[in-house]
Amino acid sequence: MMTSRRKIIYVATVYLRAVHDGRDPLYAVCEWFRVTRATAGQWVSRSRELGYLPTPPLCGHWPRLTRWDDGPISSAWIACEACMNPWPCTQADTIAWLERLPRML
Ligand SMILES: [Zn+2]
Repeated sequence: MMTSRRKIIYVATVYLRAVHDGRDPLYAVCEWFRVTRATAGQWVSRSRELGYLPTPPLCGHWPRLTRWDDGPISSAWIACEACMNPWPCTQADTIAWLERLPRML
C-alpha cells in the first residue's frame, strides 16, 4: 500500500477540495483512489497526524458543510467553521489555507 508522504499530501488535497466544493470528502477520496472507505479513513487519519488536515474538534478558519437542521443536503452551503461567514471567509488563516492548497500537489 502506498502511504508515502507524497501520497498522504495528495489525499489531503483531494479531501480538502471536496470539502471546498461541498462534496463528501471521504467519498471523494474513495472515488479518486478507488479504495474502500476503511482505507480512505486510514489515509485521512494519517494526513491529520502529519498536519495536512485539521484535527477535530476543528478550531480556526476551515471550510465546513452547513445546512439547516431539517433541510435537504441539496440546500447545504459551505461556511467557515470559526466565523460562520460563507466560505472562503476573508480571515488570514483562510487566505493562508487557500494559498497552500495548490502547492500540495
Ligand atoms: Zn472564518
